[in-house]
Amino acid sequence: MKIRVLGAFGSEGIGQRPSAFLVNDKILIDGGSVSGALTVPEQLAVEHAIVSHAHLDHIAGLAYLSETLGFCEVGAAVTIASIDPVITTLRAGVFNNTLWPDFSKIPHPDVPVVKYRTLIEDVEQRVGDLWVTPVAVNHTVPTAGFIVHDGSTGVIYSGDTGPTQALWRTACGLRGLRAVILECAFPNRLGPLAQVAKHMTPALIRREIDKLPPNIPVWIFHVKPQFHEEVSEELARIEGGRVSILEQDHTYSI
Ligand SMILES: [Zn+2]
Ligand SMILES: [Zn+2]
Repeated sequence: MKIRVLGAFGSEGIGQRPSAFLVNDKILIDGGSVSGALTVPEQLAVEHAIVSHAHLDHIAGLAYLSETLGFCEVGAAVTIASIDPVITTLRAGVFNNTLWPDFSKIPHPDVPVVKYRTLIEDVEQRVGDLWVTPVAVNHTVPTAGFIVHDGSTGVIYSGDTGPTQALWRTACGLRGLRAVILECAFPNRLGPLAQVAKHMTPALIRREIDKLPPNIPVWIFHVKPQFHEEVSEELARIEGGRVSILEQDHTYSI
């Protein structure tokens, strides 16, 4: 499985893009940034977008991707897949002909460039050439983490979450698990904010690690750009050598 980091951050800064990952060139996991990281031919190759939740830093790139697809004349389309409340929000609150055009009817309702698919929570489902299990996590809006594998290797993707249980429990025993891709938003001094906004800090991650499968690398994404240096220093102090920050534009093969 090839995982390309299109956006490694929890917001936007200069050269720092919101969260998005491209698996095997065809499947997005979150879509905070797409067009800012991919050429047009690479965008047209995207077939599915698995979305953790409807916050802008995870979906803004889907707006521009849909426009790229809308202008192309080769019949490309993306299927946006998530749990029911996320799909409902995307339909009603984003692609609603007010905030952004309803690309599920463009260029024609019979052959749109955006399709939706509702994923069933806690059930493993086929998405493209992957197997995906959405599991609800602990955020301020309905949010899923995902267990993603290709039959031989896989990862756990946390979405945005504060301390959580079900995702780690569900992934327990997954064969071929190569990494936990875990969010971290704020430095330790903003712990109270992390608690309200339901995000991780390095101190919370240190505790979360005890719930994770042993010896599996923990790859961090979603640090807010202005805190990157501070959070990096705090993460580096977590003992055990399991925790590292994902590098934007890097492709990880597992
Ligand atoms: Zn986020
Ligand atoms: Zn969020």
